Amino acid sequence: PETSFAARIPAKPSNAPLGDSSTFSGLGLDPLIIAHLQSKMEISKPTSVQRAALPAILSDSEDGAIRRDVFIQSQTGSGKTLSYLLPIIQDLLPLSSLSYIDRSIGTLAIIIAPTRELAKQISDVLEALLTMRLRPPDETPDDAGSGPRLTRWLVSGLLTGGSTRTHEKARLRKGVPILVSTPGRLLDHLQNTTSFNVGKCRWLVLDEADRLMELGFEETITGIIKGLDGRRKLAMQAD
Ligand code: AMP
Repeated sequence: PETSFAARIPAKPSNAPLGDSSTFSGLGLDPLIIAHLQSKMEISKPTSVQRAALPAILSDSEDGAIRRDVFIQSQTGSGKTLSYLLPIIQDLLPLSSLSYIDRSIGTLAIIIAPTRELAKQISDVLEALLTMRLRPPDETPDDAGSGPRLTRWLVSGLLTGGSTRTHEKARLRKGVPILVSTPGRLLDHLQNTTSFNVGKCRWLVLDEADRLMELGFEETITGIIKGLDGRRKLAMQAD
């Protein structure tokens, strides 16, 4: 089994009633996301890890004082990537209705993966999700591609040391709301890239957390968490 770890900061418990866990709708997923999954990704029913993870992560979708961490353990191929990406998108989507929002908000979610290959796979799934379009309520899911992109500002970025540091710095300066990265490169940017804005970061996912530890990344992860905390504190002082 592989493990992933998602932390959402901050969060509070919700009293939302439990629905039918065999459908995405019953799990509390936004109809827009459900329509997109069906029409663009041919995904119609949640897998068992998604049935377990979605309510646990989604129930915290409003800001509050309590911070909840979720630990997911599941087999390769079980659909674990979407089990954390869907709640993250659902949490960030309402920001799309703010007319002033753009990618300069900085990084709101960070996903750390142990290898470049895995980081690339996650980034591909994320990009497929982020082509979501706005559509009026009376439109059928088949027409979902015709509206403006709902997630225009919700840009994803991949940092794996595959491109030059200068190129990555330029992307971070413009703003990367959802970032997928390998640990070393992320720590490097937290320590050396002044314009890397994580002041509003609210999600941190460690995908294949067990492998991250096996590969000796524990110290790097500790450094990343310290770097994020330090920068968030500075950002709060500046507000
Ligand atoms: P993962 O375990 O995240 O690597 O996902 C394995 C594969 O399952 C990927 O190709 C996903 O696109 C696919 N997948 C994820 N969730 C579902 C679902 N609910 N229904 C059908 N396929 C899915």
